[in-house]
This record gives sequence, structure tokens and C-alpha cells, in this order.
Amino acid sequence: MSKLPNCPKCQSEYTYEDGSLLVCPECGHEWPVAGEANSSEDKKDFKDANGNILNDGDTVSVIKDLKVKGSSSVLKMGTKVKNIRLVDGDHDIDCKIDGFGAMKLKSEFVKKI
Ligand SMILES: [Zn+2]
Repeated sequence: MSKLPNCPKCQSEYTYEDGSLLVCPECGHEWPVAGEANSSEDKKDFKDANGNILNDGDTVSVIKDLKVKGSSSVLKMGTKVKNIRLVDGDHDIDCKIDGFGAMKLKSEFVKKI
């Protein structure tokens, strides 16, 4: 007995596995194996405080006063940040801010303009 799913096109139960694909011998349909073997789909969505998707090059504004690491200055709420770059990590926004220079922000503390 096979645990493979039926063909989504013709419901045939004679599907078989071919590498990372499932193949239906009856209608010729091929589709990717669902589940654990398929871990390449790890594209992360970057979301702002309101849950909007952020993209490279977006302009955002800071939603609360943020202390700037290693200095006594504070990034004021409402500060506009142009041309952000999204990166992986705890602080997921790379940017340059006038008067501050290059810095990193957390996407949860900004909102898209
Ligand atoms: Zn089929």
C-alpha cells in the first residue's frame, strides 16, 4: 500500500515518487512532494508594525522613540527612513538616516509610508 496522495487532476491512486516530484502515470501530471523534504521555501516576509509587507527601497517611519545603540541620541518617533534594505536577523532593516548614519532597525518598530 502506498501513502502517496491521489493525483490532484484525475484522482488516480497510482501515483509514484520521482525525486522531489510526484508523478501520475495515468494523466502525466507532475507536482512537487509536499512536506518536510521541501524546505527550500523559506522566503521570509518582512512586516511592519501594521502587518504590511515591507520591500527593499521602501520608505518607512519610526513609530516610537528608539534609543540609538552606542550613543545618547534618540531616534524620534515619526522619523522618516528612506530606501530601507531588508536583511535577515534580529534587526531586519538596514538603513541610513540623516544625522545618524548607517543603522539597523527592527521592522516591528516602523510603519510603511
Ligand atoms: Zn492523474
